[in-house]
Amino acid sequence: MHRYPLAKGTVVIRGGAVLTPAGLVDADVVIVDGLVTAVESNVTAPEGATVLDAEGCITGPGFVDLHTHLREPGKEQAETIASGARAAALGGYTAVVAMPNTSPCLDSAFVVRAVLDLGATTTTEVAVAGAITVGRAGEQLAPIAELAALGVQLFTDDGTGVQHGGVARRALDYCTGLGVTYAEHCEDLAIASGGVVHEGAWSAKLGLPGQPASAEEAMVARDLLLAGELGARIHLLHLSTVGSVELVRAAKAKGIAVTAEAAPHHFTLTDAEIASYDARFKVNPPLRPDEHVAAIIEGLCDGTIDAIATDHAPHTPETKDLPFDEAPPGMLGLETAFSLAYERLVEAAGMRVERLFDLLSTNPARIAELDAAGARPYGHTAHGARVAPGIPANLVVVDPSARWTVAGTALASLATNTPYEGRSMHGSVRHTILRGEPVVISGEAQR
Ligand SMILES: [Zn+2]
Repeated sequence: MHRYPLAKGTVVIRGGAVLTPAGLVDADVVIVDGLVTAVESNVTAPEGATVLDAEGCITGPGFVDLHTHLREPGKEQAETIASGARAAALGGYTAVVAMPNTSPCLDSAFVVRAVLDLGATTTTEVAVAGAITVGRAGEQLAPIAELAALGVQLFTDDGTGVQHGGVARRALDYCTGLGVTYAEHCEDLAIASGGVVHEGAWSAKLGLPGQPASAEEAMVARDLLLAGELGARIHLLHLSTVGSVELVRAAKAKGIAVTAEAAPHHFTLTDAEIASYDARFKVNPPLRPDEHVAAIIEGLCDGTIDAIATDHAPHTPETKDLPFDEAPPGMLGLETAFSLAYERLVEAAGMRVERLFDLLSTNPARIAELDAAGARPYGHTAHGARVAPGIPANLVVVDPSARWTVAGTALASLATNTPYEGRSMHGSVRHTILRGEPVVISGEAQR
């Protein structure tokens, strides 16, 4: 088994507020040899300590992304595990879950172990979601038990949903027996019928093939029925429609063990963006009209949706510059997620900062079992806990008053396909601390 080393030395985070188990408190944070040892006011930094300025900032648990496409193995020109991890650290993430749709895909112990080993020395901890079916082909179950033994906690064919209800039911039952979580990319391909944008006024106006909201909602409904019937736990990826939020809300009220995530682009952008025919706005599930965006925000605020996940999907310019209907879906997300969430949810919708940290850190850590109670058998450290003595120092320091402008070429990702090019953002990540090591200081990656 792997062991993730704690950094030696002392770090003092000075000034600002700290998100503790008791809420936000003005304090300094002391880290010694990778563990938080004190949260108190007016700390005197010992000689040789690294002092990080957090005046006007909030220090909280490092973010955890449930949905990152790292592209290695297979498409290293778009992103590598190292470059994606650097983007993650700059975005405030101390752990990410790498999605299995690489090539080869993550359906064997050999490839999963290779990815986990490559991720072990990067600037964020890399966990892995295994494929549910061999080759993500939706037919034969992957060696789920073997991958679970390596520490894989989430299983998904993300990129596509499992189309065959019988296969989905068997996989869900099998995952439940093993104590791991089935995660679904909800899209009924027969209903979606090759649509590359949301079916509605804009698809009609622009002459682009649309896919209706029901393509997502039909699979959400099917999976909730299966999970309820089997008493299984299920996680629903990147929800984007009014109906999906309503279905999950009703299922939770009935006691079904469902968790759900939403991506920043689905609560900040609408399908009006596709009027530019710019493939940077092509994503799956597609951008939707205002009422869907409002439903996602409501779901995030009222607890129906548990986590913000980036669906970070790097693509090379050669592929993204293709005509809209030929370009691959997906957009960068790791380095813009905090700013977008802070602006849209805290500043515009009035969400409490504590809730934002639940959505970006505590809940995703629990869903991926990267929290203190989780299994973490591959040696990942604990993430998502509010800041208190004794926890591993996986922390982020965010500056809510910072302003910055997005430029794809300035991002750490190898790819540049951000839909927010040129946009000015509110709030930024100032420092990221991984196991006691400041891997980002004042917005600069340290390695
Ligand atoms: Zn997906």
